[in-house]
Amino acid sequence: MKSIVLTLLVAVASLLAAFNYQIASGQKPEPAADIVFKNGNIYTVNEDKPKAEAIAAKYGKIVFVGSNADAKKYEVKGVKVIDLKGATVVPGLADAHYHFSGVGFREMNLNLEGTTSLEDFLAKVKARVDKAKPGEWVTGRGWIETFWKPPVFPTRWDLDKIAPNNPVYLTRADGHGSVANSAAFKIASVDKDTENPFGGEIMKDKKTGEPNGMLLDRAQDLVTRHTPSATGADLERALILADKRSIALGWTQIHDAGVSWDQIETMKKLLSENKLKLRFYEAIRGPNANSQRLLREGPQIGLYDGRLTIRTIKVTIDGALGSKGAALLENYSDHDTAGFLTQKEEVMAPMLQDALRKGIQVEVHAIGDRANRTILDWYEKAFDETPMIERQDRSDPRWRVEHAQIVHPDDIPRFARLKIIPSMQPSHAIGDLHFAVSRLGVKRLAGAYAWQSFIKQGNIIAGGSDAPVERGEPMIEFYAAVARKDQKGFSGEGWHPEQAVTREQALKMFTIWAAFAAFEEKSRGSIEVGKFADLTVLSADIMKIPEMEILKTRCLMTVIGAEIVCEDAQEKRETRGK
Ligand SMILES: [Zn+2]
Repeated sequence: MKSIVLTLLVAVASLLAAFNYQIASGQKPEPAADIVFKNGNIYTVNEDKPKAEAIAAKYGKIVFVGSNADAKKYEVKGVKVIDLKGATVVPGLADAHYHFSGVGFREMNLNLEGTTSLEDFLAKVKARVDKAKPGEWVTGRGWIETFWKPPVFPTRWDLDKIAPNNPVYLTRADGHGSVANSAAFKIASVDKDTENPFGGEIMKDKKTGEPNGMLLDRAQDLVTRHTPSATGADLERALILADKRSIALGWTQIHDAGVSWDQIETMKKLLSENKLKLRFYEAIRGPNANSQRLLREGPQIGLYDGRLTIRTIKVTIDGALGSKGAALLENYSDHDTAGFLTQKEEVMAPMLQDALRKGIQVEVHAIGDRANRTILDWYEKAFDETPMIERQDRSDPRWRVEHAQIVHPDDIPRFARLKIIPSMQPSHAIGDLHFAVSRLGVKRLAGAYAWQSFIKQGNIIAGGSDAPVERGEPMIEFYAAVARKDQKGFSGEGWHPEQAVTREQALKMFTIWAAFAAFEEKSRGSIEVGKFADLTVLSADIMKIPEMEILKTRCLMTVIGAEIVCEDAQEKRETRGK
């Protein structure tokens, strides 16, 4: 007690001394702000004061939100003044499910996004193979066959025709399936007799029993353990590329859905060198030695001025719908299997209880209705079996289900009762609408991408893109959430248009609700005094313009901690206060 009083006295004395010094030396007190943004069409996501024209910030935090007239008093000599010229401003957008290094590697490797047919896909691969040395690996990512005619997976024999001498390994956009050629299988010793590993499938030709090239989920490890691993320099380059791309699109924070400690170390290095600008909310992938280390060492919160937090374990318990690995309660409508789980309860249960005791958040990828039911069961059991007194963090642990894509209607209310956060990606719904009906049948769509069912029962939804599974663009996500139609404005029959969200809800998904899912609703997610000055400035009023125009809206400026980290340079907006 004594020492607290003493510290207080010293603090007061030094403040007085500083004040006297300023008066004595004739200096004016410091300006109350470093930067002022004015003439904005500002949506604050603060219910008490939803609209504003101006924002002032100091030391990276917001000190004023209000009218242009009231902001005048902050525009004193030396203060940076940004004239927004009527542009729309929203709280800095956050993507609650992102694979940051994956976004960077997509830019660096063979990018197979947007391939329109098998021929187009093979032509792109061939162009890369022709440049490779004999025997050199060719790897890439991003293809989706659902738009091809017919929509069937490529095979090893397709690839053998264009790549007889190079091992080729190409991952589907969703990361849950890959196709390899015969040269790759030879190196990996995958043949007719190789058994499916747990949580994975080596797809085989129905007639001959030969592997046809496709590997699902954990069967992918059979080949990836032979592909050349990225060097440290590659990873740094990928992270910097991903950062640039993300801030240019208007993201101010991403929740990174499952990384290793190696990536964390590289990120720390780059953050300390000021080479990354985003804020990062990191999940360590588990259950394995990596997640055990997080449990042992505890969370790391708000490093580098609130830029880096590590407090979550990411687990994947099934595959994806597109590659038919999502675990369903009943068989696929177009396939004679029901997918598979990729984790076992005996491994998960002790980890979940340990996480509750140590105050570590858990987020689990669950796509199919069986995977969702299973993880709710496992979460519920962990809550029931871990007495409150043993828990580090006795408040709401805010555990999440990533995707929560196909949920049996009986299980939806459990999300509210157990206070589990569904972390969902609107673009999945508009990409999947072309094949989900044939995979699932109409009946199961009742609990598919059921955004409004979750919100109406009191859940919040953390909004994300799952880039590089999807493109990872905020305006595509916002549009998908409010329109629930594909980018051409199409949505099939039975696609439950009533599950689309309002614009206010969509904005919350990528701001305050994403912040809540990261325990950050007091420091981020809305434009309010005391919070970080993180802002996304847009070329159009996405709360009012016709739906299709949302897709044309651009990011004009990204502000993180009051620093303009990215700006479209067409207009001069900056002046200085006089
Ligand atoms: Zn993901």
